[in-house]
Amino acid sequence: MYIVQIASECAPVIKAGGLGDVVYGLSRELETRGHCVELILPKYDCMRYDHIWGLHDAYRDLWVPWYGGTIHCSVYCGWVHGQLCFFIEPHSRDDFFNRGCYYGCHDDTMRFAFFSKAALEFLQQSNKRPDVIHCHDWQTGLVPVMLFENYKYEMGLQRVCYTIHNFKHQGFAGNEILWATGLNNEPYYFQPDRLQDNFNPFALNLMKGGIVYANAVTTVSPHHAWEARHTEVGSGLGHTLHMHQDKFTGILNGIDLDFWSPEVDRYIPHHYTQDNLEGKAQNKKALRDRLLLQDVDKPIIAYIGRLDAQKGVHLVHHAIYHAIDNGAQFVLLGSATEAGINAHFQHEKRFLNDHPDVHLELGFNEELSHLIYAGADMILVPSNYEPCGLTQMIGLKYGTVPIVRSVGGLVNTVFDRDYDSNHLPETRNGYVFYDSDYQALESTMNRALSLWRDYPKEFQQLVKQGMEYDYSWNHPGKDYIEIYDRIRHKPAAVAL
Ligand code: ADP
Repeated sequence: MYIVQIASECAPVIKAGGLGDVVYGLSRELETRGHCVELILPKYDCMRYDHIWGLHDAYRDLWVPWYGGTIHCSVYCGWVHGQLCFFIEPHSRDDFFNRGCYYGCHDDTMRFAFFSKAALEFLQQSNKRPDVIHCHDWQTGLVPVMLFENYKYEMGLQRVCYTIHNFKHQGFAGNEILWATGLNNEPYYFQPDRLQDNFNPFALNLMKGGIVYANAVTTVSPHHAWEARHTEVGSGLGHTLHMHQDKFTGILNGIDLDFWSPEVDRYIPHHYTQDNLEGKAQNKKALRDRLLLQDVDKPIIAYIGRLDAQKGVHLVHHAIYHAIDNGAQFVLLGSATEAGINAHFQHEKRFLNDHPDVHLELGFNEELSHLIYAGADMILVPSNYEPCGLTQMIGLKYGTVPIVRSVGGLVNTVFDRDYDSNHLPETRNGYVFYDSDYQALESTMNRALSLWRDYPKEFQQLVKQGMEYDYSWNHPGKDYIEIYDRIRHKPAAVAL
């Protein structure tokens, strides 16, 4: 099969979170299975150019219709760790992708509507006719809409799989997006069964457009698929998902074992396996040396992730103090986009700066994250909601015991050592709590800490049980291929 992925991120070259990991990891898995995969991405000024091999201009004159005129673009081509990628660079005064950041601009909906349009123009003008287009999140929600409404005669039989990684960000826009992209026809799109937002009749919802027009819609774990339809986690799209339930499923993300494996990880000083954990102890020492933590007989609890209300930052903050009050060390690696949360953690960082048992690293640091996964004993994921969550899966692979809240993909991947009734004791792999409050967090951290302290052999056993889990792309890769195969044989835009 010939598959083109259109996305706003691809790790490690463009990564703000799990979306980047998934786009890269899934592409590699599909290629390993013999399919041809190409990626179309924006050419941001701030992406990691050092991870692109052989970048060159592949298509100099891509003219993209935009409002009444056209915008001239160049398309660059290069390999990101073996994966062929095309990067679209528009030449216009808007400077859509030269902003020093990936997201967070006032005109994000315009930027990514333009990217979606440019990606389709590129496919059309360069005569690429993939069997399946796979696009992701609100940024590319307009791809299936425009493909069906504007390009179906030129493009032919492409089918679209649309994956939602986070329902919280849906991409709201006004009618200007219709005029800019050439969809025009306002009354047609401002309909409840098309792009009109379910709660604001004056807004278009790009994610809703993706759901309505794609041939298959997935989210990133089975439990989150249920939550999105039946609880507030769907952020107002529950009804739309219900209407399109026949094409909606949850597929658990995988992790790319070429990047995330303690046996081969290029960023950690000591490799190790489940059978010989000597290297993990050495990495713990290396982590302490690097972060200037004291070298004492204490466990290290880590948090790696965005500092965002979604991630349960109030619990992360509480966990730091609970850890140091209870004989543990705490390492945090995170970045906040919200000014208030950022200021709060900056303050904490200054306050705890000289503490021998805490290190707060504020910012994004891929290399350091690998060392933390390898050197820490436990990883905390106290999210309010978590579509899939990669950190607990990476933690498991690195023998770092997850302590998680029971939401979304965490439900599908972490099984409480003491209480999980669906798994035999020898297949349990971490600690789980339910309520999003301090009491639940503390008692669960206490259970993990006392196992580490009082029953080190049992703790090692738990570490090994976690490392046995296969959360690679092997299973999800098969599931996506089944979906692609299914939609290839369906009529276009099944929903309309
Ligand atoms: P998200 O909701 O952000 O997508 P996931 O758990 O799905 O969360 O994926 C997070 C990914 O981003 C993981 O690979 C994690 O290691 C990485 N990550 C998150 N924050 C940072 C950071 N500050 N520095 C380095 N890597 C990070």
